[in-house]
Amino acid sequence: MKDLIILGAGASGLFCAQFLRTKNYLLLEHNPKPARKIAISGGGRCNVTNKIVNSSHYLTKYPQFVENVFTQFDNRSLLQWLKKKRCEPVLRKKTQYFCPHSAYELIEILANRNTLYNCEIKDVEYKKGIFVVKTSQGVFRTRSLLVATGGLSYKKIGASGIGYEIAKKFGHTVTPLAPALVGLTVQKEQFWFKKLSGVTLPAVVRVGEKQFCDNILFTHKGISGPAILNASLYWQKGYITLSFLPQLPKFLPYKNIATQLPLPKRFTIEFFHAVGIKDKKAKDLTVQEKKKLQLLRAYSFAPAGTFGYERAEVTKGGVDIGELDERMQSKIIPGLFFAGEVCDVTGELGGYNFQWAFSSAFVAQRGIDEYLRDH
Ligand SMILES: Cc1cc2nc3c(=O)[nH]c(=O)nc-3n(C[C@H](O)[C@H](O)[C@H](O)COP(=O)(O)OP(=O)(O)OC[C@H]3O[C@@H](n4cnc5c(N)ncnc54)[C@H](O)[C@@H]3O)c2cc1C
Repeated sequence: MKDLIILGAGASGLFCAQFLRTKNYLLLEHNPKPARKIAISGGGRCNVTNKIVNSSHYLTKYPQFVENVFTQFDNRSLLQWLKKKRCEPVLRKKTQYFCPHSAYELIEILANRNTLYNCEIKDVEYKKGIFVVKTSQGVFRTRSLLVATGGLSYKKIGASGIGYEIAKKFGHTVTPLAPALVGLTVQKEQFWFKKLSGVTLPAVVRVGEKQFCDNILFTHKGISGPAILNASLYWQKGYITLSFLPQLPKFLPYKNIATQLPLPKRFTIEFFHAVGIKDKKAKDLTVQEKKKLQLLRAYSFAPAGTFGYERAEVTKGGVDIGELDERMQSKIIPGLFFAGEVCDVTGELGGYNFQWAFSSAFVAQRGIDEYLRDH
């Protein structure tokens, strides 16, 4: 009988194990190696956290819950801990912290001997205060359980829906799941985007009350790039607005407008074609053409969908944290804990999802040690 079984040796499961008082625990992982997502994250250098961490960078119904978690373990706590482990993340892109050389620096710190690899978790039962975990390598019994199996994106490196299934089985609400931090596909009115595949430009993307100022990238499937990825987190169905230019330039009357726009030439040609503007001297523009040019400042459209889980960095939705106590413990089944992406807390780009995985795991560890002490 184990004190604790951690389901999943990813970011949150491995992080929790670092702080546990009990040594009688086991991590179960169906991959042959730990933390595959850390390995491929941040272009191989893993964007571990951000300079500015607070609930406003997360999609969640419970911002105060998220703040409480960060009160116990935040970006500074993480950076200090990493420093102690001789890994000092470096600041890039103004606010994002990355591993100094490679994501494997972090994986080496987190890798844990108590991990059983190539072990697929199939089901969990709860009998008289004991969790019975059924796996491809047999049945394990434990006094407490941490579900740290992550989300649905990137199935090819181990993602599965087992955490959501376990949560539902034990009576938890799993809020609707969808791919997030992902590119958006377009309807036929915006098929002109596809002709621009490979073109990137800075833009402001507005979705609801959120706006993101960063690059957008046109692709053969639709539109992507960091500003779009962030917008996808808050997009449900409906319109988003792209601002390709904050202001139109003051046009010289005797020069063609296309040459006067500070935009990639390929983009200008396709945009003119799509909205029905003929390139001409500024002085010859009709009132209607002038109006259409304003679309460069605010072009609204309704995306068709997303590029899907195979391309999404994260899954939004998940275990409703309103049903967890302040130590990430189930209010329904004592001894059952959740951490990381399986929860209905999803961060923007910039290290926010690892920070949540680590912070929620740290808090769960406190709860687990308290639970084991008291039961
Ligand atoms: C390409 C990519 C790049 C990313 N880059 C960043 C970044 O730079 N910064 C950032 O903050 N976030 C990034 N993310 C998001 C981040 O990786 C996740 O939010 C984070 O890993 C979640 O941690 P977790 O522990 O909840 O889940 P995971 O890290 O996914 O761990 C879950 C573990 O459970 C295992 N598992 C699942 N099902 C089973 C099963 N049935 N049996 C056994 N084991 C199972 C999985 O194999 C996995 O090892 C990126 C994601 C992707 C896909």
